Amino acid sequence: MTTKSRKKIYEGKAKILYEGPEPGTLVQYFKDDATAFNAQKKAVLDGKGVINNRISEFVMTKLNNIGVQNHFIKRLNLREQLIREVEIIPLEVVCRNVVAGSMAKRFGLPEGQQLPRSIIEFYYKNDALEDPMVTEEHVTAFNWANTQEIDEILAMTLRVNDFLSGMFAAVGITLVDFKIEYGRLFEGEFSRVILADEISPDSCRLWDSTTGDKLDKDRFRRDMGNVIESYTEVAKRLGIMGDMPKVIEGGITS
Ligand code: 5GP
Repeated sequence: MTTKSRKKIYEGKAKILYEGPEPGTLVQYFKDDATAFNAQKKAVLDGKGVINNRISEFVMTKLNNIGVQNHFIKRLNLREQLIREVEIIPLEVVCRNVVAGSMAKRFGLPEGQQLPRSIIEFYYKNDALEDPMVTEEHVTAFNWANTQEIDEILAMTLRVNDFLSGMFAAVGITLVDFKIEYGRLFEGEFSRVILADEISPDSCRLWDSTTGDKLDKDRFRRDMGNVIESYTEVAKRLGIMGDMPKVIEGGITS
């Protein structure tokens, strides 16, 4: 089935979800669109979707191997992956190891300050409200998730952080922070929480461990240039450039 003949289920800022080939599956399509500051800043970065599809596949597969269940089934082509359909929990779960971004701003702290321990924050996923930060009290009071689900989310997020921190450290990259999302997978009347969405330089802060160079979406947010080059560098260090077409500024050459 071609992308065009598929039913579009949802379109977000960086991805589109289409009906999958079997019930309970979806096709996740990675766009080249980049947005920041609640979509006030927009651009098309040629090849970004291809790189993020591949990086997210790599990371989700590794996480699955260590028992962090997630929605990824298999990559279909350059821009698409087959995923399990879940009921998305409307939370952006942010885990931080080093002060940066909104934490630096909120508390007046210098970016780059190591945190004494990893900190997990919840944000209510709502563009119109600009994703406000919330506490567990809000999460349970408004029925976005129950206490058992929150416990599972906290435990899984720490495992993801431990694993990814080590994986990136091994290739000279510091995992400063990241945002992940979770969904409910239904089995009859029961549901369990699994990791969903994507993990890529769009959703993580990744700094070169030696130089401190930013290799993530902050290059776009802060007009630093070389966005695609930096995403490509992350893929290269993870050893996954071999099976990717050459993505350069201006397009994909092969
Ligand atoms: P901050 O709260 O400092 O802006 O972001 C913390 C971390 O979560 C960063 O790695 C950032 O990239 C990620 N993050 C926060 N909100 C979003 C979002 O709406 N989309 C994406 N892709 N990442 C986000």
